[in-house]
Amino acid sequence: MTINLTNPIFHDEDAARAHLESVRWPNGPECPHCGSDRVTRLAGSSHRKGLIHCNACEKPFTVTVGSVMERSKIAMPKWVLGFYLMASSKKGVSSHQLHRMLGITYKSAWFLSMRIREAMHIEPETDGGPDMGGKGKIVESDETFVGGKKKNVHNGKPEPKKHPVVALVERGGTLRARHVPNVTAKSVREVLKKHVKPETHLMTDTSLVAEHVGKDFAKHSAVNHSRDEYVRGNAYTNTAESFFALVKRKVYGTHHAVSEKHLQRYMTEAEFIWNNRSSKGIDDAARADNAIRGAKGKRLMYRQPN
Ligand SMILES: [Zn+2]
Repeated sequence: MTINLTNPIFHDEDAARAHLESVRWPNGPECPHCGSDRVTRLAGSSHRKGLIHCNACEKPFTVTVGSVMERSKIAMPKWVLGFYLMASSKKGVSSHQLHRMLGITYKSAWFLSMRIREAMHIEPETDGGPDMGGKGKIVESDETFVGGKKKNVHNGKPEPKKHPVVALVERGGTLRARHVPNVTAKSVREVLKKHVKPETHLMTDTSLVAEHVGKDFAKHSAVNHSRDEYVRGNAYTNTAESFFALVKRKVYGTHHAVSEKHLQRYMTEAEFIWNNRSSKGIDDAARADNAIRGAKGKRLMYRQPN
């Protein structure tokens, strides 16, 4: 499904709430305070719309409680549209676009977009150990620098600093993009150790850093980019590179520049879009709903059929 802007979930408070409820609670409301499903809907004019009472812990709640939408003054249909717009755009949506399209202030649009990026941060279900790769699996690891663009610099001011990002991609699996303080063996190793199983076949470029970290894995192959040796059998890092190309189009084309403070949030968004891409059979609506599910406090990985 593509986004049909006439859908009442983007205009009508009740329709938007019903949609958020059906996505968050496919089996009926669940108390965000204690997890109980013994609940009563509070109807009548004396109650706030959408208010539900938990019969177990006696606390009231609505669908936005315990989510990135909690205590927001932005109307629910605008949140739903924000989720759909951001989830369906490969190149990203700027806060200026959201401000115009949702009819909210620029400040509110910025806040909403940052909250939605937070919802897109979906942690995998693991016992705390790495979850990418494994025996016979290939993971590509590559680094790039993202940040300001020379073209936007005026009056001889120095070029805004670019900041390093590591991308890990399991072939046929998930991708992680992490901002790192610097590209040293120590920083890159930390990211790899956290996410990639040691039994993995690691693919990198031929940098000194890669040489160091490659030793931690069952097998390591490296391609020499400086010699135009991009593809040698299955030794390549093209998947990571396509992701970086997408990230750069997004950062420079849509947001123009991204500060170091917020860089990880933009990387999280790009990672979410990549992991929920349409070639995996996930359409715009399903992708938006995955982000809405990620909006609740307890973050879960919603595994997709491959
Ligand atoms: Zn409860």
